[in-house]
Amino acid sequence: MKVAIDGPAGSGKSTIAHELARRCDLMLLDTGAMYRSVTLACHEQGVDVHDADAVARVAQEVRICFGTDKDGAQTVFLNDRDVTASIRTPGIDADVSAVAAVPAVREAMVAQQRSLAQDNDVVAEGRDIGTVVFPDAEVKVFLTADPAARAHRRALQRNIEDPTQEQEILKDLKRRDQADSTREVAPLRPAEDAVHIDSSSMTIEEEVQQIMALISQARQAAANQTPTSDAPDAGEKEPAKKEPAKPSATPSPKPKPKPEAKEQPEAKDDEPEDPDDRFYDEEMRKFPLRHRALYVATLIICGALSKLLWPWKLENGEELWNAEGGRMVIMNHVSMIDPVIIVISDWAHGRRMRPVYKSEFDKIKIAKWYFARIGAIPVKRGTADIKAVRRAQRAMQRGEDILVFPEGTRVYSDDQEVTIHAGFALMAQLAKVPVLPVAIVGARDGAPGGNKPLRPHRIFMRAGKSITFDELGVKGRKKQAEAMEKAGMEQVYALRDELRKDHPGKM
Ligand code: C5P
Repeated sequence: MKVAIDGPAGSGKSTIAHELARRCDLMLLDTGAMYRSVTLACHEQGVDVHDADAVARVAQEVRICFGTDKDGAQTVFLNDRDVTASIRTPGIDADVSAVAAVPAVREAMVAQQRSLAQDNDVVAEGRDIGTVVFPDAEVKVFLTADPAARAHRRALQRNIEDPTQEQEILKDLKRRDQADSTREVAPLRPAEDAVHIDSSSMTIEEEVQQIMALISQARQAAANQTPTSDAPDAGEKEPAKKEPAKPSATPSPKPKPKPEAKEQPEAKDDEPEDPDDRFYDEEMRKFPLRHRALYVATLIICGALSKLLWPWKLENGEELWNAEGGRMVIMNHVSMIDPVIIVISDWAHGRRMRPVYKSEFDKIKIAKWYFARIGAIPVKRGTADIKAVRRAQRAMQRGEDILVFPEGTRVYSDDQEVTIHAGFALMAQLAKVPVLPVAIVGARDGAPGGNKPLRPHRIFMRAGKSITFDELGVKGRKKQAEAMEKAGMEQVYALRDELRKDHPGKM
C-alpha cells in the first residue's frame, strides 16, 4: 500500500502524513526532508547551490535515513548524523528549491525514496509522489490551503509569534511554490487521479479522517482482488491497475465479504488511535529512557527470582543468541513463566524479543499499559489481524525477535485439545526470516496458573535448528507457509519429547 500526499509548502502534509502513518500502520517518508538534507550538505561543504554539477555530486554521495525520537516524532539522519532541527531553518528554506530543481539530485533522491519504501506500506509526502515517485500509489491526495493559512501554520510550527516574521514566511512559501511548480523536472502538480483536499478551513482530524476513508476503501479493494481472503497480507501485492479511491458524497456500498472472511473477519486498521501504538511500532531500543529502565528492572528482578525458584536453562541457545537478524521463535506453552524466561535469556545475550499475546489481556488496563512498554504485541485472535502481522514483520526486519505460542493458550495436560495458530509462519514469511523452534518442560506443574501449586524446581528449554523457507522445498507462498507451520510445530514437539526423555518426570 502506497499513500501519496503532495501539495505546496505548509499545506499540512507532514502533520497529516505523520498521523496517517501512526494510525494506519504505514512507514512515513518525508521526501522534503531529503531535499533539505542535501541542501544542508551543500551548505556545510561550501557548495554553491546554483552549481548544478557540484550539487549533483553532493546528492549522489549523501546517505539519508529516518528514525524516531523518544516522543515518536520522525528524526532525519544525514550520513548518520541527526539533522532534524538543522534542516528546518530559513537558510535551508531559501535554497532548497534550487537544489531540488537539479535533475540529477531528483534522480538520486527518487532512487533512495523507492528503495526506502521497498517492501513497506508507506505514506510519502512531497511534491512529485503521485506523479513520479509512486505513480501507482493506491491513494493519492493533493493537499492545498490558502497561502496565509499555510504561513500561519508554519509560523506556529516554528514558535514564531512576530507578524513581520510570519509575513517573511508567507513570502518564502509563495516564492518556493512558484519555483517548485515551474521547474522543468517533476514540477509540483496534482496527479490526474489525485483527490484534492483544501484544508484551509478543516481541522487536522477532519483531514485525517477523510484520507483514512480513502485508505480503507483502497485496502478493501486490494483485499477483494487477492485470491485468498484468509491471508492477512491481503493488499501486500500491488493491484494490477487500480481505480483511485475518491471520497463520495454518499457512502459507497460495502463490498460483500468472501465466504472465508465471514469466519475470519479482517481486523480494522482505521480504529481510533491508541496511545500505546508507538510502543508496538517503534524499535525497543529507542523507547523512552524511563520505559527502557522499567524493562531492564523487570527483567533483572524476574530473572533473579526465576533463576532462584526455577533454575532454568536454554540449551542450544546459541542458535538464537548468535543469529544474524530477527528470528520468529515458536514455543510450546505450559505456563506464564515461559515468555518471561525466554525473553530474559534473549535480553541477557543482547537481543530484544517481543512476545505476541492475545488482545483479550488488553481489557485489563494496567496489563495493556505494561505489556506495550515491555515490547509485547497484541493480536486479535480469530481475525486476520493485519496490524499485528505487520508489526511483527517490521520488528523482525529491524532485527528484533518475535515470540509466538502457536498453541494460543497454556496447555496443562497432554489430553488438552490444541488448535495451532498459523500466523507465525506468515509473519516470518513476510519478514523473510527463519523460524526457530524452542521447547520447554518442567514449567507446567510448577507455575502460577498451572494445574499444581507453585513449587521450586528446575525448568529446561531447548532451541532447535532455525528453519528457513528455502529449505522446505515447497513453492508458492501459501504452501510454504503451511509447510513451515507443520515443520515448525513438529520440531517443537520433537524437542519437547527429547527434553522429557533427558529429564524424566518433567512435563
Ligand atoms: O516539504 P518541504 O517544505 O520540507 O520541502 C522542501 C522543498 O523540497 C520543497 O520546497 C521542494 O522544493 C522540495 N521538494 C521537492 N520534491 C519533493 C519534496 C520536496 O522538490 N517530493
